Amino acid sequence: MIPVLTIDGPSGSGKGTISRLVAARLGWHFLDSGALYRAVGVAAGWEDVDLADPDALQRLAERTVVGFRDSPDGEPRVLVDGVDATDELRTETAGAAASAIAANPGVRAVLVERQRAFRRAPGLVADGRDMGTVIFPDAPYKVFLTAGAEERARRRHKQLSEKGLEVTLDSLLREILARDARDAQRSVAPLKPAEDAVTVDSTGVPIDAVVERVLSLLPD
Ligand code: C5P
Repeated sequence: MIPVLTIDGPSGSGKGTISRLVAARLGWHFLDSGALYRAVGVAAGWEDVDLADPDALQRLAERTVVGFRDSPDGEPRVLVDGVDATDELRTETAGAAASAIAANPGVRAVLVERQRAFRRAPGLVADGRDMGTVIFPDAPYKVFLTAGAEERARRRHKQLSEKGLEVTLDSLLREILARDARDAQRSVAPLKPAEDAVTVDSTGVPIDAVVERVLSLLPD
């Protein structure tokens, strides 16, 4: 069976960065499952689909084609229906739309098999909210990555300012807490650690040390 390492956790816990670095160290494939939800959110904006219409959203998820392309800076570019939407996907607006859409069971069902198709030799690092609980429950390695809300807001703030996007720390913290609450309270695939996941708290821990901690869970 092709091995999978799932890394789930709340927004801003560093999952994306850690998952990518761990995948590169292992030479494994990488799935950024949040990008799939963000892509449907962005496509909804492009096509003016009502986020409150579950059937229209499910049909949109079925027809939206998402592709990943390697880029020299190590952060894959994301193509939505053939258009490079990487920068638009990273905005808070796309994150909030993704979180609203992700509460829709029809959309989640459409994306299940698409996510499982990323399991390819020699292995997969899967980053998300329900990788260890729903998508790859049989994964041999599972991490639940957390960090304090204030630290997560500071990290997002730094990331966004580096990209020239101006947002206040306060509004980011509010946004993060609202998204956490929505992700944890939804009835379908709520954010929670898998029973067999190892929780890793990255508050105040340098990235390299978190990467080593995660790698230490796998056999040499
Ligand atoms: O990880 P990222 O911030 O890109 O995810 C955006 C949103 O997509 C999350 O807030 C969450 O609501 C949703 N999501 C999800 N399940 C996943 C990945 C993301 O519900 N596996």
